[in-house]
Amino acid sequence: MFSELWKQYNFNNITERIKKVTSSKVVSTLSKDSFNTEDLPALFSEAAVEFIEEMAVCAAKITRERFGNNIQLYSPLYISNECNNSCLYCGFSRKNTSVIRRTLLLNEIEAELKAIEAMGIRHILIVCGEAPSRVTLQYLADTLRLAGKYSSFTGIEIYPLDEDGYRTLINAGADGLTVYQETYNPTRYAEAHPSGRKRDMVWRLDTPDRGGRAGMRTLGAGVLLGLDEPRTDAFFAAMHAAYLTKTYWRSQITISFPRMRPAEGCVVTPVHVDDSTFVQFIVATRLVLPDVGIVVSTRENALLRDNLAGLGVTHMSAASVTEPGGYVSKNISAAQFQVEDDRSVTEFASMLKRKGFAPVMKDWDRELQT
Ligand code: SF4
Repeated sequence: MFSELWKQYNFNNITERIKKVTSSKVVSTLSKDSFNTEDLPALFSEAAVEFIEEMAVCAAKITRERFGNNIQLYSPLYISNECNNSCLYCGFSRKNTSVIRRTLLLNEIEAELKAIEAMGIRHILIVCGEAPSRVTLQYLADTLRLAGKYSSFTGIEIYPLDEDGYRTLINAGADGLTVYQETYNPTRYAEAHPSGRKRDMVWRLDTPDRGGRAGMRTLGAGVLLGLDEPRTDAFFAAMHAAYLTKTYWRSQITISFPRMRPAEGCVVTPVHVDDSTFVQFIVATRLVLPDVGIVVSTRENALLRDNLAGLGVTHMSAASVTEPGGYVSKNISAAQFQVEDDRSVTEFASMLKRKGFAPVMKDWDRELQT
């Protein structure tokens, strides 16, 4: 389990190690033919900022070799904004009493699926908060069976389950599991998650392992940039993805570095992560983890997303709505966070094509599986 590896590292010591990286260390690291996790502190360091262009050229080449010109498009489908947790940075926190709570009925979910299908998207990520008495395993399984009628790939970004729970959802049609660790610093994690099941950091750390053991086809790791020292959090997220790649070699591993966005009820002042640091994390990850999918969502602005295509990114969300029921009618309940890139799927796909990329709406046929 990843928590066993994580316990061997100390967050503050890694922060110091990254801070002490010198320019000459980065130069000697970049002169190598290939990279491994030992190179992460150098590549994620402040000292590496002046080498971003060099890293980006190398990352673009690796990405093209491994993934061609393809960028997979997906849309999140929020089925519920009910939550028993009180994460300080989230609009769905149970402490946020101004939020109108909503868990979609199956016919409402089907209407959302039809709306997403009409946009041309066939990769769907089912998202919800942590309210297992409302969003039960049975409800999730029913949702997945329904989603299978409209999607060629259905991922889940839901509250952590045990291994058997994931097996049940795989049998109902779940193809992939995404779980963000938020921060890998245990002290900050405890502060940011004052109550609810999510307080158990080790249970969350080992969630991708349980999904991998159950047989998920894709496993997504990531960290919420802005809660703590971003370079250190990015280091741990990359370590996590590297561990998953080695341990669950049958699954495709993805990683994401979402930056904290404004949300109603958010009581955290985020640590600022500028665009160049964000780009550095993406290209550095590509150098060390050439086969890992890198996901960038509509949290990021249109200009940055346009420029990121080809630099390591393989999966991008499009025309996302973060409110349950929002594809059919907006502003009935509440969104989890504000979206920055609000272009339509057609507009976004056209931009990718103009830049020479192939927007992939569907890359998997359920019927062809044996
Ligand atoms: S981040 Fe997730 S678990 Fe935390 S309050 Fe928001 S929906 Fe709930």
